Amino acid sequence: MPMKNVRIVLVETSHGGNIGAVARAMKNMCLFDLVLVNPRQFMSEECVARASGADDILHEAQLCKSLDEAIADCKLVVGASARLRSVAWPQLDPKECAALVAGRPTEDQVALVFGRERTGLSNAELERCQYLVHIPSNPEYSSLNLAMAVQVLGYELMLQAADAPARHRESPPRALATAGEMQGLFGHLEQALEDIGFIDPRKSDKLMRRLKRLFHRAEPDQDEIRILRGILSAAQGRKSARRE
Ligand code: SAH
Repeated sequence: MPMKNVRIVLVETSHGGNIGAVARAMKNMCLFDLVLVNPRQFMSEECVARASGADDILHEAQLCKSLDEAIADCKLVVGASARLRSVAWPQLDPKECAALVAGRPTEDQVALVFGRERTGLSNAELERCQYLVHIPSNPEYSSLNLAMAVQVLGYELMLQAADAPARHRESPPRALATAGEMQGLFGHLEQALEDIGFIDPRKSDKLMRRLKRLFHRAEPDQDEIRILRGILSAAQGRKSARRE
């Protein structure tokens, strides 16, 4: 029952030992796709030792230079966060997260994104996620070790996968946009809003965050992204036409 469409993405992990422990947790929970975004240390002695026989996952792990690259083809991106954020972002508990992932068709690539040991994920990284997942824990000591967090979310996924046979995950009626296409839309939207004088680029963060949340919630498909970008291009064209 391996969930071949689920990718574990680790952002700028400091300790090789943690990456090894993540590989072990993944293999235990039938997860095999590991992507590392700029790890500070990888394949150290401790890394291999803590993988404890799951080194096949380490050898097949992909290295990426940015989170965008790691999730470009993903249709669902969930960020794991140790803290409840001030930014209101759709939030899941581990069971809800697993149900959401297991409900996706097997051909939809999914990413679970984990942050740095010391500082977690930045706001810019969280904004690339449609949802956040938080593992309920002591509010005064809520940060789990990275591999433990992967273990808990992987365990819930494993239970769900057993419950949701592939036949329930039929082909999607719509081809949802990938994270790369969503990023393309957001960049275009921000530029167009600036071009038509709707936003001041120095003060646009809050508004852009709300718009991103809106578009993530809408789960646009690829045709809809094309339509939206067509509208933006037209608005940009009209503005420059007026200038002439
Ligand atoms: N000190 C950091 C936490 C880093 S722990 C902070 O306050 O953000 C490393 C990573 O493990 C986190 O970025 C997150 O992806 C995951 N993690 C740790 N505890 C978690 C929890 N309670 N719920 C969800 N993810 C958690």
